[in-house]
Amino acid sequence: MVTSLKQQISRKAKQAGAGLVGFASVDRWEEYRETQEAFFPHRIYPFARTVIVLAVPIMIPMLDTTPSIVYSELYNTTNRLLDEAAYKLAAFINDKGHRAAFFPRDAYGDISILIRQPEAAFSHVLAAKYAGLGTLGYNHTLLTKEFGPRVRLVSVFTDAELPPDAMQEKELCQKCELCRKCCPTSAFTSTEHLIADMDKHRCASYHKLLKEHYRYPCGVCIKVCPAGNDRKLYGMDTKKYLHEREALQQNPEAAEYADWTHLRNFGALPLNDSGSLKDSLST
Ligand code: SF4
Ligand code: SF4
Repeated sequence: MVTSLKQQISRKAKQAGAGLVGFASVDRWEEYRETQEAFFPHRIYPFARTVIVLAVPIMIPMLDTTPSIVYSELYNTTNRLLDEAAYKLAAFINDKGHRAAFFPRDAYGDISILIRQPEAAFSHVLAAKYAGLGTLGYNHTLLTKEFGPRVRLVSVFTDAELPPDAMQEKELCQKCELCRKCCPTSAFTSTEHLIADMDKHRCASYHKLLKEHYRYPCGVCIKVCPAGNDRKLYGMDTKKYLHEREALQQNPEAAEYADWTHLRNFGALPLNDSGSLKDSLST
């Protein structure tokens, strides 16, 4: 049986560590026009005809401990996987005789840059939606059927015209607003829209503080989201998520949270007082 180039690329991406792979024709940016033309893939790399989006999952038990060095290390691991997977896939496509390049998974020099300009030159989230991997959530992330918003993304561009995947029709966001209620900076400022108005400066400023304490990134708005089949493995303790901040303010040694707080007590600087959070958010 002859294997198509699309099948070969999917297999290669999975071998490189991708949990999910999707294909989008660049026509989808033209059709939906949800971002400015300068951000279209074929404006960034003019040869591009197809964008291949790879997603690497984030494990819930490690994310639950955020802000902690454990989640920080997991985040770094997903970054390494994405970097390698994107590079290997682009090189593989080159070997097949097609042009290819990738847009790196984050592409900002330091968190201070995001405080000044909270946007990248290309949106992997939008690319993933066009590649059929999921839908956009209230919390501005991509929600997937498999892992909810607990994925990290990278995009590979090629001149190969590969059959695009169907886009997801059903919205995966339940608009439960757990992400809004649990956000430590109250960054989501509206409730009436499907996708929240967001104070990205507050979110980025908090990340600067977390980074200084070796607890980067935050991830609370993806941790508490009920979407995703990964919940079938790990369950969903809504009450524990909703009451975490208040319960730990009242008693930092609350038994119900001892599993998470133990891991927060090692390997990173203490995030000890709301004063430093307040100072950071006001910069
Ligand atoms: S937590 Fe609820 S509102 Fe927020 S993205 Fe997930 S499903 Fe949507
Ligand atoms: S990453 Fe953290 S601070 Fe930023 S919006 Fe999500 S929950 Fe709020």
